[in-house]
Amino acid sequence: MDIRTEIIAVGSELLLGQIVNSNAQFLSQQLAEIGLNVYYHTVVGDNQNRLKHAIETAQKRSNVIIFTGGLGPTKDDLTKETIAHHLGKSLVIDQDALTNIEQYYLQTKRSMSENNKKQAIVIEGSIVLKNDYGMAPGMAIDVDETIYMLLPGPPSEMKPMFTQYGRTYFYEKLGFQEHLTSRVLRYFGIGESQLETDIQDLIDLQTNPTIAPLAADGEVTLRLTAKHKSEEAAIRLIDELETKINERVGQFFYGYEQTTLFQKVKELLLAKNKTISAAESLTGGLFSQHLTSLEAASQFVKGGIVCYTNEVKKNLLGVSPLILDDDGAVSEKCASEMASQIRLKTNSDIGISFTGVAGPGKQEGKPVGTVFIGISTNNSTNVYPLHLAGSRHGIRNRTVKYGCHYLVKLLQGIE
Ligand code: ATP
Repeated sequence: MDIRTEIIAVGSELLLGQIVNSNAQFLSQQLAEIGLNVYYHTVVGDNQNRLKHAIETAQKRSNVIIFTGGLGPTKDDLTKETIAHHLGKSLVIDQDALTNIEQYYLQTKRSMSENNKKQAIVIEGSIVLKNDYGMAPGMAIDVDETIYMLLPGPPSEMKPMFTQYGRTYFYEKLGFQEHLTSRVLRYFGIGESQLETDIQDLIDLQTNPTIAPLAADGEVTLRLTAKHKSEEAAIRLIDELETKINERVGQFFYGYEQTTLFQKVKELLLAKNKTISAAESLTGGLFSQHLTSLEAASQFVKGGIVCYTNEVKKNLLGVSPLILDDDGAVSEKCASEMASQIRLKTNSDIGISFTGVAGPGKQEGKPVGTVFIGISTNNSTNVYPLHLAGSRHGIRNRTVKYGCHYLVKLLQGIE
């Protein structure tokens, strides 16, 4: 079928120069992506006769006609009525759209006026396109081999409606196959709300690809999903968005899909040809357990000591009694000593240590969630203090993840 598409933007504001016809620009880009040729852009005011004339003209030269605007509740919103009249169809209430509108008024605790119901009216026999960001539904109808699609005027409603439902309508109608491609980006060391704030404008503008944030176990993930008839183009859209996102929050990004922080540490240790050992107090072996559960662990893990008591810290690991007496086991100095001692004792390239208070009670007068992570190499030993909140289980789990996070940063910096 030879497709000739026309976009008719309805609204006197457009003719008066009060707003720019950005809907036509957006739709033309979208339609080009899915391979529909756009031959005409028409703008017509909120006037029934002139709109009727525009429809008659469009019908002679186009077989896909997309309208934006004039679906609202007021008198000058007359797109539906005029098209229905032109097609000889009646208007009927769409129950789902009406429920949607009633729901909106219930939620916002505002009373609904009679003319708001007008927004739930659709052309009989049309496919209704849901409005996820407003009240007026869109619709599409195929009459005498011409497709009429009606979309709302506000871009914030029109864009998601077209990308979510309008495109699908065309794909199904024209027998195209749409590829849905998605990619998960994983972040650690940044909270969900901070990450969302940093990319708020990208989230607000999302249409294709979409961005879905999710937080779990102290990590934040973003799922990017793109739709396109060409899989390569969908991947390209995701690549571009990923670059934009990581220009802002890239320092917290560590991997894709199901990659864990432990796998990332393994990957980097192998790539840099380094070995590691852990001295674990607070975490009781949790770090070593995670790392040694990965295949080929013997190539990068040398060993470790669970030094839960001061006695073991002193006698087995060699932490100085002075440090334990003066600073305590939960201290920067102790974490530093534990990390360097385990490195030396096991002849590893890297030593890591975990000491802190998992709770429920205080320890050495230090509050629950006080944590020190030491990382030692033959160049230097660094200690990272943390103040974590949550349960005993949560604190221990996040501590080992923070350990991985700092290791990833360190290893990425090693040539
Ligand atoms: P509503 O339910 O909000 O009344 P509607 O479908 O009736 O929506 P209009 O009343 O025609 O749409 O337009 C509402 C607003 O949407 C306009 O004031 C303008 O800000 C924006 N808008 C309408 N058409 C366009 C367009 N072609 N390009 C960009 N913005 C537009």
